[in-house]
Amino acid sequence: MSALPSQALRRAHSSEQACAIDPPLFALRDLTVRYGAVQALTDVNLRVLPGERVALIGSNGSGKSTLLRTLHGLVRPSAGQLRRDGAPRVAMVFQRPFVLRTSALNNVALGLWLRRVRWQQARAQAAAALQRVGLQAIARQNARTLSGGQQQRLAFARAWALRPDVLLLDEPTASLDPHAKREIEALMADFAASHGNAGPQQPLTTVFSSHNLGQVKRLASRVIYLEHGRILADLPVHDFFNGPLPEAARLFVKGEIA
Ligand code: ADP
Ligand code: MG
Repeated sequence: MSALPSQALRRAHSSEQACAIDPPLFALRDLTVRYGAVQALTDVNLRVLPGERVALIGSNGSGKSTLLRTLHGLVRPSAGQLRRDGAPRVAMVFQRPFVLRTSALNNVALGLWLRRVRWQQARAQAAAALQRVGLQAIARQNARTLSGGQQQRLAFARAWALRPDVLLLDEPTASLDPHAKREIEALMADFAASHGNAGPQQPLTTVFSSHNLGQVKRLASRVIYLEHGRILADLPVHDFFNGPLPEAARLFVKGEIA
């Protein structure tokens, strides 16, 4: 198959009607991010709508983490625009969970306390979040003694406790064994079916990066392929895996599946 212009494939995947009703949570225009001499993202144009489940794929160094960090506000654009509409509450789960040498409950509660939630309320919210991820039984255990999968659950609880509208997940299952991977995937599917702060009419929005194309098929509604900091394909999940792709994306998919 010959290479197709990616522009032609970058069609709006959500219905135009939905666009008219729901303003995007994030709107990026010609966004560029540089770390010193390294250009990590180049001219990224992207709108993320409420309730979408967006998967970011691409080789190491293609800009997935930078895009997630930019959406979170941890990285400032060097050029272009990033608009957040409706002040969505954004929480992020990082690639490697960081855990403090204290109980699982305190690990979650401290995150809330740092956001000025009173300690007693923070502990109550933390307990509810641990229950949400199935860690209630080990709430008082030192978090450093938890397994990799449990620590990742703890990271999910920490994000969930913030009551986000948008959940950003950076390769959330990359360092886990197959069993823990399945558990975290089930949790991701469960969260994706939840709703944000606006209530039941507005489902939670998730943006996650992954190297696992099976996971992308199972969990995403939309797939964005990045290469050298540029978006080369942005398609509904069905079209991404069944339709024509730009050559680079096609080779990437083939390589990841092989
Ligand atoms: P991915 O998550 O797809 O592997 P990243 O967003 O981490 O990609 O990286 C994109 C590019 O930016 C890479 O070239 C990487 O080396 C570079 N980069 C990422 N973080 C930093 C940083 N803090 N300082 C300098 N360069 C960075
Ligand atoms: Mg990364």
